[in-house]
Amino acid sequence: MVNLVLFGPPGAGKGTQSQYLIRDMGLLHLSTGDLLRSEIAAGTKLGLEAKSLMDAGLLVPDEVVIGMIKSKLQSNPNAAGFIFDGFPRTIAQADALDTLLLGLGTSIHCMISMAVPRQELIDRLLLRGQDSGRADDQDRGIIEQRIEEYMLKTAPVADYYRNQGKLQEIDGLGTIQSIYQRIQAAVNA
Ligand code: AMP
Repeated sequence: MVNLVLFGPPGAGKGTQSQYLIRDMGLLHLSTGDLLRSEIAAGTKLGLEAKSLMDAGLLVPDEVVIGMIKSKLQSNPNAAGFIFDGFPRTIAQADALDTLLLGLGTSIHCMISMAVPRQELIDRLLLRGQDSGRADDQDRGIIEQRIEEYMLKTAPVADYYRNQGKLQEIDGLGTIQSIYQRIQAAVNA
């Protein structure tokens, strides 16, 4: 198995770049944001509880996302590997992921962290909000709150992987194709 974490603030391009990795490496895409939005669309209790936090630009509780990832890992035992997108977002999630993967006899091979300046993130998210239909992409205040949550709770997760010698940092500015080339180089390194 090859397991990658695509990491970066909201608007860094994690979802976009995941699509290329799926195409080229045949990995399974696990995006907790997408999984949560599916729960909301299906009108589940979990979705209803998560929605108010997501709409406010706040993280949902660790137990909720860890539970979703656990069930996806267990239901795909034959996957070639996984791309984790938007997870882990806290140190507790990173710890839980290590434990879950250890139970499957595997581990994270590398975290690719994409760096994008704050103003560029805000511009990209407002642009995406024009046709993504995502409420959390349409309000500058909510976008700023999401970036705050990232700085406070999520940015430290990079050090967790740095300490394991697994962090690869790349510049997240440029064309989609040029950023993907940097990701490929980082994965192969
Ligand atoms: P995303 O699609 O990754 O931008 O996530 C959208 C929203 O879903 C976030 O702003 C959080 O409210 C929630 N969310 C997604 N993934 C996580 C996670 N790993 N931990 C906590 N909240 C999450």
